[in-house]
Amino acid sequence: MSPASFAALPRLVRLAPRSARARHLAGEILERAAGHHGCDDLLADCAGAIAEFREVLGQHLRSRPADFLKSLRALLAVEEEYHWAAVLGDFEDDFYPMMCPHCGVMVSIAIGNYGRYSATQDWDLGDVERRGLRPAGAEELTGTGRWMFEMAVNAGQEELADGIAHLFGRAECPLCASVFNIADEYTSDNRPVMR
Ligand SMILES: [Zn+2]
Repeated sequence: MSPASFAALPRLVRLAPRSARARHLAGEILERAAGHHGCDDLLADCAGAIAEFREVLGQHLRSRPADFLKSLRALLAVEEEYHWAAVLGDFEDDFYPMMCPHCGVMVSIAIGNYGRYSATQDWDLGDVERRGLRPAGAEELTGTGRWMFEMAVNAGQEELADGIAHLFGRAECPLCASVFNIADEYTSDNRPVMR
C-alpha cells in the first residue's frame, strides 16, 4: 500500500456516486490499508474522503444495486472491519478454516450451496465428520453481524442474509464436540493488528 494510492482516494470518492469502477477501487485501497505500517496516518489524512465514501456507499446500497456484495465489502473496509471486507463472499462456495478454541484441531467451516457444516480435513477423503452449523436467529445477532444481516435483508439479499446468519452462528467441533461462535473465532484469528 503506497501513499500514492491514498492520494487518489478523494478523487475516486468524488467519482464514486456515478462510477462503479471508482467505488471498487476506493474500496480496495481501504481494504488493503489493513495492518500496513504507517497507514494510521494516511487514514487520518483521508478522514474527510472516507466519511464522504461512507455516505456514498450507504446511499448506493439502499438502491439495491447489482454490485451489492462488493459495495458492502467496501463499506466494511470503511468501518475498519477489514477481515470481513476481505473474506465476505456470496456463500456459494465459501470456506472458513479455523482452529477449535477448545482442542486446537483445524476445523473447516463450509457455507455453500453444497452444505453448511463444520468438518475436519482428511487428506484423501476431504471434509469428514461433518456437523451441521447452527445459524443465529435474527434476534440473537449483535454488533457487526447484526449490521451486516440487516443491510442484506433490507436490500432483499436473502441468500447473503442467510449466509451471514450461519457465519455469525455456532459450530460444533467434530473432534471434541465443543460448540463455539464462528465469527468470534474467525475474528480473533484474522483481525489485522494496526501498527
Ligand atoms: Zn475441538
